[in-house]
Amino acid sequence: MRTCEATHLAFDLDFTLSTYPLTTSQVIAETLARCGLDAAVFGSANELALDYDRLWQELEVGATSADELRLAIWTRMVCGRDLAPSLAAPIARAYGDVRRESGVRFVEGVPEALEILRRRGYRLGLLTNGLSEVQWDKIHALDLARRVDVIVVGGDIGFYKPDERAFAALLGRLGARSADALFVGDSYEADIVGAHHAGMRTAWVSADGASHPGAVTPDYVFASAAQVLEILP
Ligand SMILES: [Mg+2]
Repeated sequence: MRTCEATHLAFDLDFTLSTYPLTTSQVIAETLARCGLDAAVFGSANELALDYDRLWQELEVGATSADELRLAIWTRMVCGRDLAPSLAAPIARAYGDVRRESGVRFVEGVPEALEILRRRGYRLGLLTNGLSEVQWDKIHALDLARRVDVIVVGGDIGFYKPDERAFAALLGRLGARSADALFVGDSYEADIVGAHHAGMRTAWVSADGASHPGAVTPDYVFASAAQVLEILP
């Protein structure tokens, strides 16, 4: 891969730097078991997981807390399947418990890569969408405030990727011109299209090696964010 001349680097959080020990489908299976419910009543756990992740994205902007968001999602999921609406609250609570207890972890190689990049003198930023409460829980759990220079959370500033204002806030805090910055993220729309329109260079983390689905061509495609080491001197 060709060398990148960026001096400032910024990363997305979810599924770029961090991941979960349990998939959505595994959390749902454990949640329903705890509630004494037969998963088959809801259809397959995979189908529920797709629904859950889609609704999370749809309802996230505007939600004021994770508990409220989970309740809104499960209310839709329960009502959409003609089940008793009273099921939604206990399921939403149990889901939050399972996710909290199982925690969050780094993608393999990421903490080492961040440390090496800092030693090489790069300034590092993090720009993540999502609810303040949820994102900061993960940021604290991974001790990211110590590992990067700048952290910008969509829920704190009211702008979300791919909105150019989210990237402008990041660049301002990093003290970087967009042309000197590389953005690394796994969401083609939010991270790559957004950063490209903000004037940054882009590296798309596409673990399955999928080809990019739109007109914006990422400058780099990585299997993992840690690969950023390969393109930077
Ligand atoms: Mg992501």
